[in-house]
Amino acid sequence: PQGLAKRLSVIVPSITLQVSARANDLRSRGIDVVNFGVGEPDFEPPAFILDAAKKAIDAGQTSKYTAVTGIAALKQAICAATEKKRGFLPTPDQITVSVGAKHSLFNVALACYEEGDEILIPTPCWVSYPEQVRMFGAEPVLVPTSQENGWRLTPDDLARALTPRTKAVILCTPSNPTGSAYTEEQLSALLEVLRKHDCYIVVDEIYGDLVYDGFRHVSAAKIAPDLLSRLIIIDGVSKSYAMTGWRIGWSIAPKPLAKACDVVQGQSTTNPTAVAQHAAVAALTGPQEEVEAMRGVFQKRRDLIVSALNAIPGVRCRTPEGAFYAFPDCRGLYGIHYKGKPISNDEDLAFFLLEKAHVAAVPGGAFGAPGYLRFSYATSEDRIAKGIASMRAAVEAAR
Ligand code: PLP
Repeated sequence: PQGLAKRLSVIVPSITLQVSARANDLRSRGIDVVNFGVGEPDFEPPAFILDAAKKAIDAGQTSKYTAVTGIAALKQAICAATEKKRGFLPTPDQITVSVGAKHSLFNVALACYEEGDEILIPTPCWVSYPEQVRMFGAEPVLVPTSQENGWRLTPDDLARALTPRTKAVILCTPSNPTGSAYTEEQLSALLEVLRKHDCYIVVDEIYGDLVYDGFRHVSAAKIAPDLLSRLIIIDGVSKSYAMTGWRIGWSIAPKPLAKACDVVQGQSTTNPTAVAQHAAVAALTGPQEEVEAMRGVFQKRRDLIVSALNAIPGVRCRTPEGAFYAFPDCRGLYGIHYKGKPISNDEDLAFFLLEKAHVAAVPGGAFGAPGYLRFSYATSEDRIAKGIASMRAAVEAAR
């Protein structure tokens, strides 16, 4: 008999992609949409990375399968970069290089989560965390945080949410969608709670290099070396090096779990694309000045968008420590009119902004925080200024 697997019925398609699709639809009709929807840097990767990829092709290094979990040079480069940037030195056999951080999280989910397990996720959270948990029959336990608390899980809320069924906790710092990040002290307090509870701790550090105003991203692995036997770090080149399309991410896991990821990958994707692995080696071992320059540009854009959003009456936006997202409270805009009715939720607000201001932002409900909107500021200052001015004008006209 035909029919899709039952597990698909619990998965919702990514709303981020739906908003992008609608924005593209408007664009195809000749409308200039300012796209704050998509979570990828607008920069090109530094040229030396692309050159290294071309050289690897010319040297005949890229046409064959590689080791399933990544070439030795890349694992070495990841170990060295992890020590330099994250403050701890993993061994190559802890590393599974995959087709992006999302794939690494998927590998871990497939290897670890099953029916009866609870996976604790502070919200607002990146959309794929709960969906991947559901895909494997486990239950995402969503623990709300608030803008007032800087969108950070508190140790008390964490302790209250843990149960004997908690198999893993997924933390993301700096966070998508809020841009919020844990200080060393705040993360230490959470790890102290987790010290007393035997579960996996998954920390997604994909935005770890993108922090502003001198904020220090400190890896959970540096803070709590005693927890390394159950700590999984997720990282990759997509965000820091503007390499989303190259699809290279990795997990750093305790050896038994790394071995399991090897088995999972060996029966699914095999190795990530060889040429992309060579590009990633160059990214991690090459000069980091351009990466630092991109970070500086993001910081300026963050300052611009946060102040422009806060200048709109009814919008309240905290200044995020990292990543490239602003996540304002937009409930003060409820009541403005769209299609003859007052707007009363974030999805209607997002579609109002698309149609009337030609601005694409993602409704916060998608991340577990209705009433908020996520703006990715991975676009130029001119586009940010234009988009937010257009949003302000549309809101004022609809009051
Ligand atoms: N983790 C978070 C929090 C993200 O925001 C993203 C991308 O949007 C990813 C992981 C996935 O990154 P990659 O491109 O490496 O799959």
